[in-house]
Parts: sequence; C-alpha cells; structure tokens
Amino acid sequence: MRFNRLRRVTLEGLLGLGFGSLIAGGVLAAILAISAWRLADTGFDEYERQDAPIAVHASKGVDAWLKLRNREQRFVLSVGNDVRPAEAKAQYIPLWKSGVDDLQASLLQIRRLADKTDERVVAVIPGIESALSRYVTSFTSIADLVVRLGDAETGLDGEMRAKARAAEALISEMKFPAMTQSLQRLNRSREDFAATRKEQYVKEFLDESTRAESFDIRAPQTQDVRATLRDYAELFRNYVKVSGDLETKKRESAQAVALLEPRLEQLEHEALENTHEMLLALERRIVAVTLCSALIAVLAVVLGSVVAWFASDRIRLATRRIIGFATHVAAGRLDTRLDRVDVGELGALESALNTMADRLQENDEVMNKQAHGLEASNRRIALLSEMTTLLQTAVDAGEAAAISARHLSRMQLGRGGVLYICNESHDHLDAIARWGDATSSTDSFFAADCWGLRRGQPYESSEAASPLVCAHVVSGTAVPSYLCLPLVTSTGILGLVYVDFGNADSIGHAEDTHFAHRLSEQLGLAFANLKLRETLRQQTLCDPLTTLFNRRFLEESMPRECARASREKLPLALLMIDADHFKAFNDNHGHEAGDAALRQLALVLRENCRANDLACRFGGEEFTVILPATGREGAQAWAGRLLDKVREMTVSLRGKPLPRITVSIGVAIYPNEGVDASTLLQAADRALYEAKEAGRDRVVVASQFKN
Ligand code: GH3
Ligand code: MG
Ligand code: MG
Repeated sequence: MRFNRLRRVTLEGLLGLGFGSLIAGGVLAAILAISAWRLADTGFDEYERQDAPIAVHASKGVDAWLKLRNREQRFVLSVGNDVRPAEAKAQYIPLWKSGVDDLQASLLQIRRLADKTDERVVAVIPGIESALSRYVTSFTSIADLVVRLGDAETGLDGEMRAKARAAEALISEMKFPAMTQSLQRLNRSREDFAATRKEQYVKEFLDESTRAESFDIRAPQTQDVRATLRDYAELFRNYVKVSGDLETKKRESAQAVALLEPRLEQLEHEALENTHEMLLALERRIVAVTLCSALIAVLAVVLGSVVAWFASDRIRLATRRIIGFATHVAAGRLDTRLDRVDVGELGALESALNTMADRLQENDEVMNKQAHGLEASNRRIALLSEMTTLLQTAVDAGEAAAISARHLSRMQLGRGGVLYICNESHDHLDAIARWGDATSSTDSFFAADCWGLRRGQPYESSEAASPLVCAHVVSGTAVPSYLCLPLVTSTGILGLVYVDFGNADSIGHAEDTHFAHRLSEQLGLAFANLKLRETLRQQTLCDPLTTLFNRRFLEESMPRECARASREKLPLALLMIDADHFKAFNDNHGHEAGDAALRQLALVLRENCRANDLACRFGGEEFTVILPATGREGAQAWAGRLLDKVREMTVSLRGKPLPRITVSIGVAIYPNEGVDASTLLQAADRALYEAKEAGRDRVVVASQFKN
C-alpha cells in the first residue's frame, strides 16, 4: 500500500524527499557528532579540573602515608642499631612530620576539590583526619618515650646502667658477696625485662631490691650502696612505667594505623572509582550520542536510498516502457499507446508521447490516404496514357471501344461509368464501354436527353451542384451524384463520359471529377483522332465511287493474306472481275449511268462477301475479291453465284432502268497458281483474259498446268 502511495508522488517530490532526508539526516548527524565532541570536551575538562586531581591527591596522600610509615619504621629500626634514640628522633621525626604534613595537605586539597558529586570521598576524609590525629599524637609520644627510655648510655636505660655500675663499685669495696650476687640478679632482671617487657622480671627486680635492702651489712659504704640501689630501683620503676606508657602508645598508634590505613585505601579507591565512574558515564553519554548520530545518518542513508531506489525504479520502468513504445512506433505500429501509470513529470511525458503517437497516426492515415490516392491517380494516369497510346493505334471504333472498356474498368473512376459515342448524325448516343456499377444510365439515348450534351460542356448533378437530372439517368427520390462530360472536339461532340459517384466521399469525388475531366479531354482527342484517321484511311484505302477498298489496299493486303494462308495451311482464292463491254455501256448510256452500274456492282460484291472476304475496286470497271480459306471448287462456285447475282442485278438512273450488265471472272488459287501476290494476280488476270476470250459472262479458273 505504501509503495502504491509512493507511486503517486511525483518524481520531483520523490527526489526532493530523498535529498531532503539525506540532508536532514546529515545535518542531524553532524549536530549530534558536534554534541558528542562538546560532551567529551566538557566531560574531560571536568575530569581534569576535579576528578583527576582528587585521584592524584588521593594517590599522593597514600604515598605520603607510605613514606611516613617508612620513616617511622626506619626510626624504630635505627634506635635498635646503635643510634642514639635522640639522634634517631632528630633525624627521622622531622621527615616523618613532613610526611604527615604532605598527607594532611593532600586531604585538604581533596576536601577543597570535592563537591556534592564526590560525597563518598568527602565522607571518608573526617575518619582519616581523626585517625591521623590519633596516630600523630601516639607516635609523637612514642618517639618521646623511646628517647626517655634511651639506650646503654642515654635516658633511663643509660642512667640505670650507671647506677648499676656505681652500686657494683661500692659493693666491690664492701666485700659482700651476697650483695654482689643480689646486684647481679637485679641487673639480670632488668635486662630480661628490657628484652621481654614481662611483669615477672619487674617483680623479681623489686623483690630482689627489697631483699638487698634487708641485708645486714656493716660497712662504711652501706648507706651509699643502699642509696644507690634505691636510686637504681627508682630508675627501674620509672623505666617500667615509661615502658608501659610506650606499649600503651604503641597500641594506640597501631589502633590509629589500623583505622587509618583502610580509610586511606578507601579514599584512594573511592577517588579512583569516582574517576572511573565519571569516565564511564562520560563514555556512555558520548557513545549514546555518537550512536544516535550514526543511527540518524544510517536512517537518512537508508531512507534516501529507498527513495532513490524508488525514483530510479520508476525512471527505469518508465524508460523501458518508453523505449518499447518508441520501438513499436519506429517499427510502424502507430496504434501503440503508453498506459498512463505514472504521475507528475513521467505521467506528463507519457501523455505527451501518446498525443505525439495520436498525431503521428492521424498524419500517417492522411498520408496513407494521400499516398493511396496518389498511387491510384498515378495508376489511372498510366492507364489513361496507355489507353490514349493504344487508341492512337486503334484501327476502328470497335477496337477503340474494346480498348476503352478494358482500361476504363481498371481506372476505378467513381462508382462506375459509361462511355457513349455519337452516331453519324450526332443526335443519338450508344454505350461502347461500361465500368463498375453504372446501371443508372441507359445504354443509348438521344443527345437531347443529356444536359451536358445540350450545353456542350460538363454537367454535374448532385444535391450541392444541381438538382436537375438528365433523362438518360435513372434516379430515385434523391438527386443522384454523377457527371456528364461531353467529348468535345473541333468537329463537334463525339460522345459522352458518364461517371456515377454513388456515395463516394468528398476527396474521392473531387479527384474523380478532376480525373474525369482529363479523361474526357483525352478520350475526345483520341476519338477525334480515330475518326480523322478513319476518314483519311477511308480516303486513301477506299474507292470513293464504290466505297470498296482500292487497289493500294489490295496490294497491302495481299502479302498479309498470303502469309496467313501459308501459316494456316489453307488455300486462298483471288478473283479478278471485269465488267463486260463497259466502254459501250458508257458510250450508250453515259458516264453517270456507268458510275451507277459500278456502285451497284460493288454493292452486290459486298453483299456476297463474308466477314473475312475482301472486295476491292482494282481500277476502272475491274474488281478484285480475295476469298480466304477457299479452294478451287469453292471459288468457282462463289464466282458462279456472283455471275447470277450480277445478271439479276438491276440498275437505274433517276428512275430510268438501265440495261443489265454482265461480268467475266478469272480465278487463281493460292498456292497452286502463285505463292506471292503478283504471281497470283497475273494468274487471275490471265484467267480473266481467257474468260473474255471465251465469250465473257463466265468464270475461268486458272490452272498451273495451263499457260
Ligand atoms: P471488254 O468486254 O473487253 O472488257 O470491253 P470493255 O469495253 O469493257 O473494255 P475497255 O477496256 O475497252 O473499256 C473500258 C471502259 O470502262 C472504258 C471506260 O470508259 C470505262 N470506264 C472505266 N472507268 C470508268 C468509270 O469510272 N466510270 C465510267 N462510267 N466508266 C468507266
Ligand atoms: Mg471490261
Ligand atoms: Mg477492263
């Protein structure tokens, strides 16, 4: 469904959507990328300004703590390694204090840097400060107490040893062994206590001291010894007390350390943890923003790509369809149309192409019609030209009519038509050729029945042109559409071309009308020419008196007739006919009577000739007849019948009958008496001479055996 909706979006809209989504996606992705960069920058600034320094100070604090502990250890160890406690204190305690100062400075810095976000760090600091204070107090006391206890030469230890040595010197002067032993025990208890710090050695010392006090010694040094031993005991008691205080302070110090160290570790851990968390949070935010940016970029690219795919798909499909359409149109299938499946520009292109195809098809149809019309017109003109050429060579009206009929039927002029020729008197017309459906006009009519012939110019009948209908045209209720074109020549009207248009369309009608005029002109000229030629021919080949062919025609026809006879292997008879004693007839009745007799004789000859027979006036009162396919007997019989007909022939001049005449006939047969015209004529002439010699009014058939 969504895809269909996309198809209704214009290509421009689709491309706008694609580019818009790409640009919007790119801008959004860029904004988010800048935001990620800003976030990282700000986050790292914050980190460098606050969290990193806290972690650094926490580490420094831990370092300072380790250092001061180290100095504490070195102080304690150096005291046991022949270094005077006071010297050791002077050497290490200032360093230790500087470590304490460093630690405190770190704590101060952390407290200053930390804010609400570092609550856990801040929460640890008071505990550290409190434990540190207790540690500092207890360790300072430890240092003092260690110095107070001293060593073999200093402090309480040194004083006790000095007293012990003083007592020993005094006792040695007294020579009192029990006291010496007691002093030795005292020294041993003191040393054991110093080494173990056990209470039992204190008791042993004090018990021994009390026992030594009780010795009954009578010597001058006794008082000094006793005073010395009392001082010794007093010093030991102080020593024990200070030792006890030292142990107490050591415990306190250890407790403070036990409190302090985990807190310092916690501080360092919290600081690092805080830094880590801060970095993690920053990383998460940067990653989130970057991912959003990448996602938007990908979405923009995907959306842009989808839209671009749709756009390209539509262009591809449309191009393919348009190529197919163009190929079909180029191949001449102009009825091809594009389905309107696109909208917008492509739809407009499809519509324009369809309109173009419509125009092409219309133009093509018009051109086809015109081409067909032109072709038909050319064909007609060629036919007309051919017909005119043939009519030039037509020997008579019958041949001309046949030529006209054959060609006119092929010209497809109008629905049909008729070619009429006038009779000799020009008052009546007969159809000599018809073409198509032209039954509307009669076969023959009087010239007065046609408006065209009456006016001597073309006449067109139709609803539009003229409602008058010629009498030779059979019409119904509607006015028939036809054209009458008189064949007008310089000698008058020879005939008429009638063209029936029936329901021909206007274009065909106009063309046909135009062609019909041209046809009538050509036919008029051709028939006028034919008539002229016939007249001339008549004049050159016919004898004016008898209208029979003359001697020239005979001489032209003889070789043709001989050749035909030879080709058909048939005989041919040549008859020479001569009027008997015609000079006397002329002399007796006049030349005019002679002419009348000759005309009548010619008529008899013509009446007795078949279609293929040829009768000529050879000259004067002599006639020649050619009987094709006629042998000796046939010719003799025909000549015998002619003699009878001539004998029966009556001739009159102005109502006055004239005497009958006779003829003599000489017959020669082809090929027996000759195979060429002159030989045959000579043979016939000789036979005629023989007939004259034999008494006239008879037939003599030439024989090759006679000479
Ligand atoms: P024959 O029986 O021997 O043929 O005798 P003929 O008189 O007929 O023969 P001839 O040759 O002596 O005479 C021919 C005559 O025919 C001479 C001429 O006056 C006549 N003639 C020739 N031509 C014409 C023509 O055209 N009209 C007329 N009236 N007479 C003609
Ligand atoms: Mg004669
Ligand atoms: Mg003669």
